[in-house]
Amino acid sequence: MQQTTTDPRKEAIRLTSLWQKHGPNTYPVDLDALVHGAILTSGFSDQLVIDRQHFDSFEGSLVRTNGTRKWTMLLNSRITHGRRRRFTFAHELGHFMCHRELRSKFEDSEDSLNDFRDEIETEANIFASWLLMPANLLRTEFQGITWETETLRAIGNRFECSLQASALRYVELCSKPVAFVVSRDGMIIWAAKSKSAPYMNSYCFGDELPAGSHALASYQSGDEDTQRKAVDPVWNDTRHAFESQYFDTSGRGYQYTCIEFQ
Ligand SMILES: [Zn+2]
Repeated sequence: MQQTTTDPRKEAIRLTSLWQKHGPNTYPVDLDALVHGAILTSGFSDQLVIDRQHFDSFEGSLVRTNGTRKWTMLLNSRITHGRRRRFTFAHELGHFMCHRELRSKFEDSEDSLNDFRDEIETEANIFASWLLMPANLLRTEFQGITWETETLRAIGNRFECSLQASALRYVELCSKPVAFVVSRDGMIIWAAKSKSAPYMNSYCFGDELPAGSHALASYQSGDEDTQRKAVDPVWNDTRHAFESQYFDTSGRGYQYTCIEFQ
């Protein structure tokens, strides 16, 4: 375990409370207003400058000026997708709030912004998803929903957040037995499940999508139907489930599977 100075969940909750009590408390959260109106004015010791420019090699970066407490956050304005820009901003803010005692430079590509395995990157992604999607709003607005990719897209749209981050946040909060699986070429990259979900036969990085699953069948046939479908006990030895698929068309080749156990 690397030593971090600040827990990303607690820090996101602290900032959410700043925003809800002292900010305009509107969502999607305005990150510029949060940083300039709430964080930097609350007796903060370090300086943070936000600089938006065109860059070729990264989506976001956080750099400390040598020997000072001054930090510059570089955000790539070449990224046209507003949701990706927001998530990158929140991710870099996570490094700033939680990790600035560990390193003096962070640099993020699309890969690290979708990395839910590396510890530091996962922490920044957790911070970002907690900050962009507060538990109280998610619970109020999405309680009792059916867990499927259409709902996932609705959550992503509501909070202007990526589907992977929206899914991680929802599944962590959900009291029903649900799971979310990210795969590519039929192999799992990462997965998350709620506390009440059962053991899953395919769950870890490198596991193959299980035979008999709708996920594997859709991958093999190229069927992009997002309809929710019932499947036999293939994710768990005894539990039937419903599955729904979504293929990310951004060129990364990700397949997302929402699973709800019966
Ligand atoms: Zn990062």
